Amino acid sequence: MLKIQAESNVPTEYGEFRMIAFAEDQDDWMPHMAIVAKNTNFSQPVNVRFHSECITGEVFHSKKCECGQQLDRAMKFIQENGGIIVYLRQEGRNIGIINKLKAYALQEQGFDTVEANLKLGLPADDRNFDVAIEILNILNVKSVNLLTNNPEKLKFVKESNILLNKRIPLQMDSTKESESYLKVKKDYFGHLLDDQNEIL
Ligand SMILES: [Zn+2]
Repeated sequence: MLKIQAESNVPTEYGEFRMIAFAEDQDDWMPHMAIVAKNTNFSQPVNVRFHSECITGEVFHSKKCECGQQLDRAMKFIQENGGIIVYLRQEGRNIGIINKLKAYALQEQGFDTVEANLKLGLPADDRNFDVAIEILNILNVKSVNLLTNNPEKLKFVKESNILLNKRIPLQMDSTKESESYLKVKKDYFGHLLDDQNEIL
């Protein structure tokens, strides 16, 4: 069972957040994280972003995906409006960094992001957001406004004990390098790449 292993306030470029590490035991070197803005009002629907780790995009500013940009926008939004980012250790839609780089190598040969995963014998998306729901329950969140374009994340919340109040879209600018990736997200995964707030 997940537990809060440690927490502390951390100042960032976007302001201060409460950073909370969740793991089954304290020796886990890759705990899931929640970062909580100080002005979060838990008696109202809480703005929440489920964000899966992407070392290439977030740390090294890869242009192949928009994860870094999404994380930055979510941090800024949540700092201004209150809320929580649940940061999940699900690198490469949970195939890990080694497989992700193997998939990128296949993409250099012309396969798209889904085809490359399937060629490696891996699922197109191996993520499960139950752990994010578990974290929200530990934090005592009852109702959320989910910052996402991903219908799969909406589905996990709808099927949980947490109320989905509305979706807040995260619109990203595509680059020459990320265009085909965003197209697959839209066509294959059904991502909602518009900029309208959807009341659910
Ligand atoms: Zn990424």
